[in-house]
Amino acid sequence: MPDTTPIPTHWYNIVADLPVAPPPHLHPGTREPVTAEDLAPLFPSALIEQELTTEQYVEIPEPIREAYRTWRPAPLIRAREFEKALGTPARIYVKYEGVSPVGSHKTNTAVAQAYYNAEDGVKKVTTETGAGQWGSALSFACAKFGIALEVWQVRASYESKPYRRHLMETYGGTVRPSPSELTESGRKMLAEFPDTPGSLGMAVTEAVEVAANDPDARYALGSVLNHVVLHQTVIGLEAVEQLRGAGEANADVVFGCAGGGSNLAGLAFPFIREVLHGKAQTRIVAAEPAACPSITQGEYRYDHGDVAGLTPLLKMHTLGQEFVPDPIHAGGLRYHGMAPLLSHTVDLGYVTGQAIDQTDSFAAGVLFARTQGIVPAPESAHAIAAAAEYARGLTEPEVLVIGLSGHGMLDLPAYQAHIDGDLISTT
Ligand SMILES: *Cc1c(COP(=O)(O)O)cnc(C)c1O
Repeated sequence: MPDTTPIPTHWYNIVADLPVAPPPHLHPGTREPVTAEDLAPLFPSALIEQELTTEQYVEIPEPIREAYRTWRPAPLIRAREFEKALGTPARIYVKYEGVSPVGSHKTNTAVAQAYYNAEDGVKKVTTETGAGQWGSALSFACAKFGIALEVWQVRASYESKPYRRHLMETYGGTVRPSPSELTESGRKMLAEFPDTPGSLGMAVTEAVEVAANDPDARYALGSVLNHVVLHQTVIGLEAVEQLRGAGEANADVVFGCAGGGSNLAGLAFPFIREVLHGKAQTRIVAAEPAACPSITQGEYRYDHGDVAGLTPLLKMHTLGQEFVPDPIHAGGLRYHGMAPLLSHTVDLGYVTGQAIDQTDSFAAGVLFARTQGIVPAPESAHAIAAAAEYARGLTEPEVLVIGLSGHGMLDLPAYQAHIDGDLISTT
């Protein structure tokens, strides 16, 4: 049956429906709630408005919808062979974001952010990236809307994973290893830790420094912030409709992987909307790596988004701004904090965290590849592992939805390491 699910015309803002307002972001100097003026050196006006809005729905401008049309709606696939292999009575659906041009959900917010920057006359955008999924999504989007892009890539990934760097450069992005000698903060970090593999927190600091000092440049973040979460709700808005189209009234449990939290929040919030409106009892599981367990092991408190403390203070589950996780293969999950909106829904009891060992995630990823054909991104494999464990324990049928945030076709060396028995357990 052809998928006739319409592409959403509006993004969904859960803030409007939550029983308790989320704690505001604070100015790093005054510790007062941030204002639109505080954020103006960093972001274009429309994104600042979206960061602070309490409106329930925000209209998606036509040029962004047009970009979405090249790969959306993303398919919701019933994973029957995977169900059989697990021997579960569950009906398992995967929402597959790997069909986007760069192979992950990050393109959903990248095209929106590039569009609003272009609308504001911004000439150059700076950003950070880990394994390069975000950097390649934004490189694609900036090329589409005619903006220059400078990407600070975590040094360990820059050196060990050249393919996404090639992809970023193919789209026209400029890629720098972080920490670098090109910024004051980079030089400081290198002086203190000359052999550091880098971290997302360090790369954010460098990208923010450059944007803050150039009136024609702005900064873009690939996860964590409210406006990024807002853009990612296209995932869940489609999935709720597609599940109904497949004859299921509701999902019992939704599983997603959580790095900075945007893909899971984007998938889950429209399902939580149904819960908040009294129409469903769906539970949400945030699968995070045991090597970077911000929800299950971190503290829920105000922290900076970067190492140097240039970003606003965000109330979130955090391992601390200086935390440098082991170089696990799921590079997209190596961030010290968690989206404030996702953290808030964890705090209110709508979302539960679960830490997943690296080897368990790859085992689940391999089983999924061998049954369904899609090789999941190592990040997404965490969600598959959490869902598989749950599904194996069921004796009655339930409807499970897994967020498959991307494909793993550029992560095959990590799969090979797993198959060769070379991966370390992280628990
Ligand atoms: C970046 C990335 C993640 C982590 O995303 P968040 O939305 O920040 O949790 C997960 N999966 C893939 C494929 C990614 O590229």
